[in-house]
Order: sequence, then C-alpha cells, then structure tokens
Amino acid sequence: MRLLIVLGAPGSGKGTQAKLLAEYLGLVHLSTGDILRDEVRRETELGNQANQFMTAGELVPDALILDMIKAKLVLDSMTKGFIFDGFPRTVIQAKGLDRLADEVGARIDCAIDLVVDDEIVVKRLTARSGCSVCGAIYNDVWNPPRRAGFCDKDDSALIRRADDSELVVRNRLHVYRQQTKPLEEYYSHRALLVKVDGYGMTGQVLARILISLEASGTNDRTQV
Ligand code: AMP
Repeated sequence: MRLLIVLGAPGSGKGTQAKLLAEYLGLVHLSTGDILRDEVRRETELGNQANQFMTAGELVPDALILDMIKAKLVLDSMTKGFIFDGFPRTVIQAKGLDRLADEVGARIDCAIDLVVDDEIVVKRLTARSGCSVCGAIYNDVWNPPRRAGFCDKDDSALIRRADDSELVVRNRLHVYRQQTKPLEEYYSHRALLVKVDGYGMTGQVLARILISLEASGTNDRTQV
C-alpha cells in the first residue's frame, strides 16, 4: 500500500490538489478536516470533542487523530493506497503514521509541500465559500459563482466555514508555523519532501506537482 502526504498551510490548496491527485493516481483521498467536520455535523462523541479546537483554529489532540486514521487504514486495508490531506500535522502524528504504516505494511512515497505566501492564504480563505450540498468550492475574487451565494452546479446555498474568519485564519497560520512546519525537516531528512509552488491556477499547480513527482520517481499510476 502506498501513502502520499500533502502538506501545506491552510489555504495552500492542499484539499483541491489532494482530491485531483487521488483521482489521477487511483488512491483514496483522506482529509482529516473533512472527516472531523462530518463528525461535528453528526454530533458524535469525536465531533463534540473536536469542535472547540476547530472553532478556535487550534489542532485537535494527536491521540484522537491517530485513532481516527488507524480506523480508516484498517477499514480500507485492501486499497492501493491513500493520499493524506491535512495529516500529519505534528511530529507526534508523523511518528504515529510511521508506526501505523509498519503495522499495515504500507510505505510513505513522499510528502508534497505546497508553498504559498501567508497574505495570499488570508485573501483566499476569507473569500472562500462552499456548496452546502455538493461541496464545490468558490472564491469571491478568483472563482465567483455565477449567482452570488448559490452553487453553479446545483443552485444550493453557499456557506462559509466558521474557521475562515480573518482572526481564526491568522491563528491557523500561527499554529501551522509552530506545529506543522517542523514536518518539512522530518520528511526532508528522509529524502521524502517534494516542495511545490502552490501559487496559480489549479491546473498549473497540479501540473507542477506531477512534474515534481515524476522527477522524484513517484508519479507512477501502475505502482501498487
Ligand atoms: P483543514 O480542513 O485541514 O483546514 O482542517 C480544519 C481543522 O480541523 C483544523 O484547523 C484543525 O482544528 C482540525 N484538524 C484537521 N486535521 C487535523 C490534524 N491532522 N490534527 C489536528 N487537527 C486537525
């Protein structure tokens, strides 16, 4: 089983790129943020525990995240592999992932690090909205819907994430620098880090990622 990691600050476009890459490479896309938001919506025990951290832009405790990932890996153990989006986010999570990978006989292919300037992140996230039904993402500045407030695809209402206010976004960036940045060194030490410029149109960034993966020998759709 192969494991690819997409690192990058909030708003770096890691969710969009991870989804596209998963489709292209035939891997399962696993976004810890999406899973947690779903748990919060369904008011599960995990959701209720995670909610206060997410609303403040803080990280959910490592133990909860690692249990959640373990359950997903075991559930989907027959798959070709996973693309992790938003995980790991701390060195403790990265070490936990190493242990889990050993347990299930998986290998980490690479950690793609999408690099974007902080001020662009703030602009992107505070102007972001998403469809309440199909999840399509819009941006008031770069990719506005045809009718303000409604999805182009299914006409459903667009909603903003509670943690996309400027104050919370700036805290999420601070948390990223403190707790997630050290992962660059963690993976570069093992020659697994692939840095990619995350600025530009979705297709341009995807092309850059694929070229970088090719250069590092991990862009092989036939790998199992
Ligand atoms: P994201 O959608 O990746 O921006 O994640 C939204 C929020 O979910 C984060 O600000 C955290 O509160 C929480 N979260 C997502 N992934 C993790 C993780 N790997 N570790 C801790 N908290 C996480």
